[in-house]
Amino acid sequence: MKRREFLRATACAAGASAAWLPLGYLRAADGGSAGRAATAVATDLAGRSLDGAPITLPRADIADLAASMQGELLLPTHARYEQARRVWNGTIDKRPALIASCVGAADVMRAVNFAREHKLLTAVRAGGHSTSGKSTCDGGIMIDLSPMRGVRVDPKSRTAYLEPGTLLGQLDRESTAFGLATTAGTVSNTGAAGLTLGGGFGRLGSRFGLACDNLIGADVMTASGKLVHASEKENPELLWGLRGGGGNFGVVTSLEYRLHEVNPIVLGGMYTWSWKDVRAVLDFYADFAPRKPDELCTDLFMRSSPNAEPGISILACWSADHAAGERALEPLRKLARTAQGNVAATPYVALQSMFDAGFPDGRKYYQKSGLVSTLTPKAIDTLIEVFQVKRTYPLTMQLQGMGGAAHRVKPDATAFVHREALWDMAIITNWDNDAESAANMASMREIWTRMEPLTYGFYVNSRYEDDLKAFRENYGNNYPRLVKLKNQYDPINLFRLNANVVPTA
Ligand SMILES: Cc1cc2nc3c(=O)[nH]c(=O)nc-3n(C[C@H](O)[C@H](O)[C@H](O)COP(=O)(O)OP(=O)(O)OC[C@H]3O[C@@H](n4cnc5c(N)ncnc54)[C@H](O)[C@@H]3O)c2cc1C
Repeated sequence: MKRREFLRATACAAGASAAWLPLGYLRAADGGSAGRAATAVATDLAGRSLDGAPITLPRADIADLAASMQGELLLPTHARYEQARRVWNGTIDKRPALIASCVGAADVMRAVNFAREHKLLTAVRAGGHSTSGKSTCDGGIMIDLSPMRGVRVDPKSRTAYLEPGTLLGQLDRESTAFGLATTAGTVSNTGAAGLTLGGGFGRLGSRFGLACDNLIGADVMTASGKLVHASEKENPELLWGLRGGGGNFGVVTSLEYRLHEVNPIVLGGMYTWSWKDVRAVLDFYADFAPRKPDELCTDLFMRSSPNAEPGISILACWSADHAAGERALEPLRKLARTAQGNVAATPYVALQSMFDAGFPDGRKYYQKSGLVSTLTPKAIDTLIEVFQVKRTYPLTMQLQGMGGAAHRVKPDATAFVHREALWDMAIITNWDNDAESAANMASMREIWTRMEPLTYGFYVNSRYEDDLKAFRENYGNNYPRLVKLKNQYDPINLFRLNANVVPTA
């Protein structure tokens, strides 16, 4: 099915019966009365403007927005508000004045128009996995796309069409059923939209490029409330910006991905070594990982924990012919004679969800990260020193692989500029008790002062701290082009809760 037919089909949801129809359309098929009935607007509401100043949202305007939406408009008094305002990271505890629970592009348009007309602080939420909580805000409007979930795969054209709230696991499960896949992240309930717009690393990245390299089309609701399509043919400059420029240019209301033939059974799994082997493993990895074939994706992990010996692991995913994979894996298997675990024939979707349980919603998380292009002896020494220390909290580092096809894309071919990086190095910790937050975060920042010098630039999707100057520098030579796009599609900086490109118009 071509894109236009797809759009027609989604617009005619009442008459369609395809299983991929997202929840939102099914709810809207009852006439969309749920939102109107559920939203009682008793008074004006206090809110925050785009620059954070207090504003008043008139009751009548809120009632109009609620009445115009097919989905629900949630106010703080609504029974579902508490659950809807939560995001993945429990350190983020924000209370939007309004949550527009959108079931289609028309709802998004109405929410955007309302936000612009009231100069209201605006957050856009897809999977809610932004570690720094960019998809929510205090006193503004959260445009919640999570009711808009659905994937349609066209095996013939090897294309996947996604609703904007779709999670990665849905994309993987739907596409692998047809022997197809594209690069996605490594925890299955992460949002596809947020991940892709910022870049998107994953276990097919060295073979097929980043998720954003495989984004071939998108519908975007711009700040003026106009729906624009971006593809290689239509508004190609906007597509360029969406490939790494985040949510700066509008709300993406549908995404179109290039899929690739992939055996749904990969050679995958993880080897874990005891601490005495740490230097041997790091030395091996520094040499092996930059030279491995594109079809082999590897990630390296180090861990320290309060009550156990530290450890080091390598995860491997070979996604092509298994006989060739065995040859490529030989050096790793040799090293793994002293390791636990295995790399064996495994469903790709099982590998893609093997870490899900380690990242439950609502726990408190903090992370620091930066990009790395070589593992020098100094870097190896530093990593060993950092991870041999026992702390009161668990610490994990992931060297997430890029390289290969992602590396060969020119830095100015997409907004994602950091093509020379071989890895995203991220350290992350988690805890439950609020009382531990300040000390854990301070300790992580202290650790990072030792690790940051090993990095250059950062992955916007892993960035916790907000810093406009750092964002600008991080976009590098692509920044002026991003500013031009921002001036064109969002001159008032309505979409500022992201790795922000500041308009100059
Ligand atoms: C457990 C976990 C595992 C991760 N693993 C990986 C990984 O393997 N690879 C990787 O590359 N990254 C990974 N990440 C980082 C991930 O890419 C980011 O957290 C990403 O922002 C998540 O997208 P989301 O839609 O869930 O987030 P959200 O919090 O919903 O949104 C994040 C940002 O994107 C914007 N945005 C989201 N959807 C839209 C839209 N439709 N239109 C416009 N703007 C939008 C939001 O406004 C916000 O600024 C991981 C994160 C977590 C928490």
